[in-house]
Amino acid sequence: MTSSLMTEFESIYHSPATTLSSAPGRVNIIGEHTDYSDGFVLPCSLEFCTKVLYRKRADNLVVVHSTNYPGESDSFDVSGDITHGSSQWGNYIRAMAFVIKRAGHTLGGVDVLIDSDVPQGSGLSSSAALEVAIGGMFSESSSLNLSAEKIALLGQEAENDFMDCQCGIMDQMISAKGEPGSALMIDCRDLSTKSIKIPEDLSIVIVNSNYPRKLVDSEYNQRRIDCEQAAKKMNVAMLRDANLELLAQSREQLTAVEYKRAHHVITENQRVMDAMSALASNDIKTLRQLMSASHNSLRDDFEVTVAATDGLVEICQQVLGDNGAARMTGGGFGGAIVCLCRAEDVSRIKQAVSEQYFDRFQLTADIYVCNAGSGLKVEQLEPLPA
Ligand code: ADP
Ligand code: MG
Repeated sequence: MTSSLMTEFESIYHSPATTLSSAPGRVNIIGEHTDYSDGFVLPCSLEFCTKVLYRKRADNLVVVHSTNYPGESDSFDVSGDITHGSSQWGNYIRAMAFVIKRAGHTLGGVDVLIDSDVPQGSGLSSSAALEVAIGGMFSESSSLNLSAEKIALLGQEAENDFMDCQCGIMDQMISAKGEPGSALMIDCRDLSTKSIKIPEDLSIVIVNSNYPRKLVDSEYNQRRIDCEQAAKKMNVAMLRDANLELLAQSREQLTAVEYKRAHHVITENQRVMDAMSALASNDIKTLRQLMSASHNSLRDDFEVTVAATDGLVEICQQVLGDNGAARMTGGGFGGAIVCLCRAEDVSRIKQAVSEQYFDRFQLTADIYVCNAGSGLKVEQLEPLPA
């Protein structure tokens, strides 16, 4: 925790912050677009995180500033109906207040300063990190004692019902429950988790394409509808309950698009199961095959990649050969790719991306070498020395 952030809080609110709630961004190793079909995912939380410093107020106002949006602020009264405001990012805080109140809780006022190093709009889920950190704050400041899982579920509701993005539960669950040094297999039906230690000699490299994302929410919501339609026509509750045999039998009933979407989800769920064992046994060759198949399925069947992320995956796969794995990560339509490799190959990835990516796509990528960081934490702050 940096003292400059505490100083900034004090200069905005003229009183020191008392508490810090922090929640991480995430990278998904495998299991993409499976969460909203009740499937399996294998993400890990990052050390990039969103910090929420706060102090309770005597009234019912929530006042928010963010170091990522200097000069902007939002404030709203939590005793009345929570409606949308004019600040785009402020609406995420309103969204959390809205769903927590809807669940029957009473909230009190807080002064809030947000600070985050999670890249925004890159598929590393800065929105879930923000929702979960704000959920942790409201839970503590209003003495609600919400569990990490409950905060994750409320974060998803906030995104679905207030922010109009029909995301699944993965991002909020991993942000709330991630563990340092481990990936978490999440069963998105019963929300049970299994943690898998990331082998010490395996590096996680994220390459952000910086491709300008467009129409992400509408495309995303359409994928969800396609999956629901396919499940309905196959007479199963969710695609989680389907298999390739049933898919083959149902081919006539499905449109070509529904067939492809279902094919991705069914095969991806199996790849998560296989990747879990491969990761636990540090079997990089199998991880390479699985992550490559996942990427191809997201490109051809689910149609959520763009040329820039396909190109980055190609560049990294070529450099890594059999010694590393690469695929797009996150919702797609741009965003980032993730590579798993040995430490000595990291500099080769950096070199290949800098030599080839700009030439091919006229974009500059950002590369982060990451460790799995901690999930949601809420801690009391020591006052700064006078
Ligand atoms: P992603 O979750 O992939 O990063 P989204 O578009 O879902 O991308 O979420 C990004 C949005 O989340 C931003 O436009 C902003 O509204 C909000 N947000 C994320 N981090 C912060 C922050 N530190 N301060 C204020 N708002 C933030
Ligand atoms: Mg998001």
